[in-house]
Amino acid sequence: RRLGRVGTHRPGCGGAAIGPDGMIELRGVTRRFGATLAIDNLSLSIRRGECVVLLGPSGSGKSTALRLMNRLVDADAGQVLFDGRDVREQPADALRRQMGYVIQSTGLFPHWTVARNIATVPQLLGWPKARIAARVDELLALLGLDSGLAQRYPHQLSGGQQQRVGVARALAARPQVLLMDEPFGALDPLTRHGLQGELQRIHRSQGQTIVLVTHDIDEALRLATCIVLLDRGRLVQTAPPAELLRRPANAWVADFLGREQAALRLLALRSVGDAMRRAETPGATATTLPALLQAQSLREALAAFLALGVDRLPVADAQGAIVGMLHLADLMQPVP
Ligand code: ADP
Repeated sequence: RRLGRVGTHRPGCGGAAIGPDGMIELRGVTRRFGATLAIDNLSLSIRRGECVVLLGPSGSGKSTALRLMNRLVDADAGQVLFDGRDVREQPADALRRQMGYVIQSTGLFPHWTVARNIATVPQLLGWPKARIAARVDELLALLGLDSGLAQRYPHQLSGGQQQRVGVARALAARPQVLLMDEPFGALDPLTRHGLQGELQRIHRSQGQTIVLVTHDIDEALRLATCIVLLDRGRLVQTAPPAELLRRPANAWVADFLGREQAALRLLALRSVGDAMRRAETPGATATTLPALLQAQSLREALAAFLALGVDRLPVADAQGAIVGMLHLADLMQPVP
């Protein structure tokens, strides 16, 4: 079964069954705020190494579900487990040190330099100075921040840079899991897209477990290995992105994903390199056409086909060498 480049399906994505690779588990959790039932008998599990995205409309309980994990909110009923232990049996600060937390307004300390902000948790943990300095350098590089920014103050940075520092700070002490609450919500689309790419790279290269809250469907589809869809505090469906698009559990899910847009969103999950014909070389006419890039998505390829009014285009690698051809028909794969 083909599920695109976002990740291979692992049985149990979000499901209740959890093995030794389980990291966080909610068991029949309920939480009220006054008369509001924010979380309604929610069970889900998060495996080590996954990027789980909690998705749903505003007020569906996404943030509350996340905050239950680091005890910013406690459950009225049910159980939250971290590494197999009830979170209530662990001191909240010790628990939170194992969980990086990133929020929309970065929460950086305004009177501290970037370096000191990033070093917050390592300093609390009493790391030696040299180790902290090395970790700060490493994180600046990981987040694509110039080392010259280390001695600046948050207000001297752009919004995107501040958010990068927020992510670097959350990662500093190598937490077991990164909890992110609408981390890119306040950024302009271009900056948001860039940071999504960075996060995806960090997830893939470091194997960092991530739980991210968003109401942005395309962000969820792009980043998640497993999507947990919530509505009114209840779990509606859990599935890897491509499966969610192909097999929405009910009419509400299909509506939420945008019925007529689902096919285009599916195209966004696959790359040109995935679908192209490697053996084929461009004919005389095709060589005069601009080439698609292997790394582009099929959604971008569709836009190029439409704009150029052609039904096949050469494909180039990052160095510009032609490596194959993509036909418009290659975009229309039967649903398995
Ligand atoms: P989402 O993140 O999906 O937007 P939330 O988890 O923030 O949803 O909220 C779920 C419901 O719980 C909403 O109706 C919200 O108003 C309510 N709620 C969340 N936190 C609080 C709080 N601290 N006090 C009162 N109501 C709250």
